[in-house]
Amino acid sequence: ISWIKDSNEKYNSFITISEDYALEKAKDIKVDKDSHPLAGIPIAVKDMIITKGIETTCASKILKGFIPPYQSTVVSKLENAGAIILGKTNLDEFAMGSTNENSAFGPALNPWDTKRVAGGSSGGSAVAVCSGQSPISLGTETGGSVRQPAALTGILGMKPTYGRISRYGVVAYASSCDQVGPFARNAHDLALCMQTISGYDENDSTSMDVEVPNYIKEIENTKDLKGRTVGIPSSFFTKSLNPEIEKSFQQSIKTLEALGAKVIDIDLPSLKYAISAYYVLVCAEASSNLSRYDGVRFAHRTSKASNLREMYEKTRAEGFGAEVKRRIMMGTFALASGYYDAYYLKAQKVRTLIINDFKSAFEKCDFIATPTSPSTAFKVGEKMESPLEMFLADIFTVPANLAGIPAISIPSGLSSENLPIGFQLHAPAFKEGSLLCAANLFQQEQPFEDWLSNKAKKGAL
Ligand code: GLN
Repeated sequence: ISWIKDSNEKYNSFITISEDYALEKAKDIKVDKDSHPLAGIPIAVKDMIITKGIETTCASKILKGFIPPYQSTVVSKLENAGAIILGKTNLDEFAMGSTNENSAFGPALNPWDTKRVAGGSSGGSAVAVCSGQSPISLGTETGGSVRQPAALTGILGMKPTYGRISRYGVVAYASSCDQVGPFARNAHDLALCMQTISGYDENDSTSMDVEVPNYIKEIENTKDLKGRTVGIPSSFFTKSLNPEIEKSFQQSIKTLEALGAKVIDIDLPSLKYAISAYYVLVCAEASSNLSRYDGVRFAHRTSKASNLREMYEKTRAEGFGAEVKRRIMMGTFALASGYYDAYYLKAQKVRTLIINDFKSAFEKCDFIATPTSPSTAFKVGEKMESPLEMFLADIFTVPANLAGIPAISIPSGLSSENLPIGFQLHAPAFKEGSLLCAANLFQQEQPFEDWLSNKAKKGAL
């Protein structure tokens, strides 16, 4: 824990390190051959997920000091397995952003180069795993917040099928897209975490009663990708792709072919509208979800109000950061009568087209491959001047959230600046197991764990 505290000075990956809580819990854990494989394993949790008795801030001033009175289902499941919650990791305020710079606590920094961001919004959870502070961590995904920071820090991150994991106790950003997702350094650890936190929960009406397979067994039994087809929506991205990302992507495709997969070209014509539809929909949902932070129910309340209306206004003006305010305003606008049909309804129709595009593509293939991020890690401050540019960086991740399907980011190489590049695979709903198997085989063809540990040996991580 003292090393985690020291390294946190460098990376700013944790908002709260729950030292006493973790040590207390660890006392009760006995590990023997019959224990759950996660027994005694420290896990870092994004500060967007409720932890009973441990401050939960969503990286927002408005929740500073909020100690939840109940436990989220995912944390209950981890604790029941014997895992030790290490603390709460940094994020963009209310998970809104792609660099972790919208945090009220400053950005999490990338261990590969601390002048660069770790990605976002789950930047702190990605850094915790990349730097070795914890072997597994939890993030949340609304539009790529696990996969993109996984790619930018050189680890694995998964966005499960919508409904696969309970959202009970996960603070809502855009409820129709939100889902918890794990980070790890290898497919086996990711599978272990997925297996432990997945499944139906009567406390979440959107969780699905679909059996959770034994992912570890699936991984162990899958030796190649023979008989599997990978679709590439090349018209969607190849024109303007950064050459280094493109090169790594082509190499990744060759790796899949070498593992026995057949590669075909597919068309996903509606994907070009994904970013526009996504930002209309998530802002609309956020404007509604965030109305609960009013100074009455949770944490921050202004001390400068002389009547109720002023109390609401000043509490929210003081408590929310600029990006959250921008999104509440955009969302309120998109939902206003007179604009509703033109924006919100139109975006919902586009969402249906995207869902249908994926459905027909998956009639021809088992996986869909794209890069995870159009670039490697940005320099701190680089994207903050232009919110639109930051939105565009989500081009490859938001389609899976709109369609509700699972996707995984796998490290696929290093750029000339020695920065990690990620490769992304999508699968049909509830086929997380196929993604984990493919990731496991893919990783065995890559020396990535060596790169990470060599860097660690040199003291860089
Ligand atoms: N960057 C995206 C956004 O700002 C995704 C965030 C997320 O997945 N939580 O909305």
